Amino acid sequence: MAMAGLSGIRGDRLWKNARIATCAADLGIIESGAIACRDGRIIWVGPQSALPPDFDALEIIDCAGRWITPGLIDCHTHLIFAGNRSDEFARRQAGESYADIARSGGGILATMRATRDASENQLVEAALSRLDAWIAEGVTTIEIKSGYGLDRDAELRLLGAAREIGHRRPIDVAATYLGAHAMPPDRPRDVYLAMIRDQIIPCIAANKLADAIDGFCETIAFAPDEIATVFEAARRHGLPVKLHADQLSDGGGAGLAARFRALSADHLEYASEDGVKAMAQAGTVAVLLPGAFYMLREPQPPPIAAMRRHGVAMAVATDCNPGTSPLTSLLLAANMACVLFGLTIGEAWLGITRHAAAALGRSASIGSIEAGKACDLAIWNTESLAGLIGWMGPAPLHQRVFKGISQ
Ligand SMILES: [Zn+2]
Repeated sequence: MAMAGLSGIRGDRLWKNARIATCAADLGIIESGAIACRDGRIIWVGPQSALPPDFDALEIIDCAGRWITPGLIDCHTHLIFAGNRSDEFARRQAGESYADIARSGGGILATMRATRDASENQLVEAALSRLDAWIAEGVTTIEIKSGYGLDRDAELRLLGAAREIGHRRPIDVAATYLGAHAMPPDRPRDVYLAMIRDQIIPCIAANKLADAIDGFCETIAFAPDEIATVFEAARRHGLPVKLHADQLSDGGGAGLAARFRALSADHLEYASEDGVKAMAQAGTVAVLLPGAFYMLREPQPPPIAAMRRHGVAMAVATDCNPGTSPLTSLLLAANMACVLFGLTIGEAWLGITRHAAAALGRSASIGSIEAGKACDLAIWNTESLAGLIGWMGPAPLHQRVFKGISQ
């Protein structure tokens, strides 16, 4: 755990007298631990008694026995959108079906119209006001998808807004292009897919506008062979892929994601055993999204037992969006993954730290408290790690540390 040659080095900051869940190997608990950082990176973590006696830091922080975990990572959100769909919630509660609402112009297309009408600045301001909830909960990395523009300019505006949010707040943003989210009503299918493949993905790759390409593989969205052509374009341009897979039916999404060595396949309620097995072989992370499962009152949970059996890493995310998962708390998502899907507390913690980092292709730099990684931490006023996930309310965050700096 200790970094060779720490002796004689002066750190920027040293947190001591802490209970640490490194999340490096299982929860990796260190009682009475210490963490040292320099230049925004962790340079040492271990039991306080093993700290070299001559180690010095500019600032030494006594954590008074508090828990420290890695900064949390929400690896699946649709945080940037305009408009409001609370009327649809009221209509569903009054007995209308989601399909009827979508047919009458609601659903994703309602958000699309409002989003197309918004300027980049309006989108940024609306998203920033939502983002405060993640920051207050110790989140240090958030993934944000486009997918509500559904034409070239509006999608690029959404990706620009995602990058801007990362500049405006102390949080890392992973931007994902989700052009294949829904069919826009104003274009033929083949024309829209060709635009994604031949215009937008090359533009994104050339200008580094997104970190990954996503799609929605479902009967109400895009077929596996259509998604495959989008993923082939992503591959040609060196961009990793992710997939909304098998949420409402088994469309072979898990297997498709594995075939393209996707970083993650997300939702997965109806994924088959073969699909799960293929994901394990490809190293594709399963991202569990209990918020949508809850809001849509889905009858079938994802195949957690098969994921465990085949050794698929499981992440948990909010899927925050204005329609099917208006959820702004990653800890509540973890709670729901435990209660609704049967995750253990340990699985839920790894799901919002180490495995969430893997779902973003960032395992080398974030997701656990280890020497060499970014010093992104969450310091908690809690007696236990189980208590943080067992509590359904504002998080007892003492302090958030982003790249070595206390917020
Ligand atoms: Zn989603």
